[in-house]
Amino acid sequence: MLYHRWFIALLALFGFASGVASGAEVIRLRVLTSIPPLYCWTANVAGPLATVENLLPADVSPHDYQFRPRDLKRIGAADVIVLNGLGLEDWFARAIRADSKDAKKKVVRIADGLPEAVLVRHLPTIEVGAGKGTTSAHDHTHDHDDAGGQANPHLWLDPQIARHGVSNILHALQTADPANAAGYAMNATAYLAKLDVLDAEIRAETTTIRGRPVVTFHDAFPYFCRRYGLDLVGIIEEVPGTDPSPRYLAALLKVVRAKGVKVLFTEPSSNPRLAKRLADDLGIAVAELDVLETGALTPTSYEDGMRRNLAVLRQALR
Ligand SMILES: [Zn+2]
Repeated sequence: MLYHRWFIALLALFGFASGVASGAEVIRLRVLTSIPPLYCWTANVAGPLATVENLLPADVSPHDYQFRPRDLKRIGAADVIVLNGLGLEDWFARAIRADSKDAKKKVVRIADGLPEAVLVRHLPTIEVGAGKGTTSAHDHTHDHDDAGGQANPHLWLDPQIARHGVSNILHALQTADPANAAGYAMNATAYLAKLDVLDAEIRAETTTIRGRPVVTFHDAFPYFCRRYGLDLVGIIEEVPGTDPSPRYLAALLKVVRAKGVKVLFTEPSSNPRLAKRLADDLGIAVAELDVLETGALTPTSYEDGMRRNLAVLRQALR
């Protein structure tokens, strides 16, 4: 018995128990993410210590995703699954339920552990018809089974919340692969420093546009606008993937005129015609902000995307 324990301890000491096979072939932790920002954060924490893949094809928004049976295989093969939470990946949550009870255990969410006060629960106030107040763009498409309530899921567009997400990812990777805990911690510390630089840069470069009214295509920017003091006054697409009603649009145009909005923001995957027509009617401009729900899967794609948005905002709102 004693001999047996010693043997196990020795194996662990030399890394055998953590997946380093005798032929020096490294079996790395496999991590699956749902959207590009989470891929990017996870790739930075993982470095060369783990394999990171994103489930969604590069050009498909999580709002439109149709789950494929072969995704179950990838979920089954993953050691850790990184989700955003707050109802963004309901299709993923349903698939995991169908897959196995064990699969749930390997899920970590960016939203896990976020204080209630951080969550945004409503659209900017647009009165549509008599007695109808604010609505949430995601009420209609998600059942919010994992987060309690109707919080806006677009957490990743706030770099300070990204810090929280990176900490959650770090903890999950360390738990799943304790032998590399110190390596993951070192990688995370380096990446958090980059996020701090990004945050400071956006803060410094938005001082001249603070308080400006902003209208975005879908309701993806409340966390960003709150962080940097922009006034999010309206959303073009009330429900993601659904054309807004004429009544809703009339209410939106009223807000745009009243607030002196100078530009309507579209998105890479949005239909630009609607925003263009509205902007033409109003005699204002159109510019494109990236919600980062689609796009490149590289370790710098999050910072790159945020900096592109910063440049667009500075240009459009100056
Ligand atoms: Zn979205």
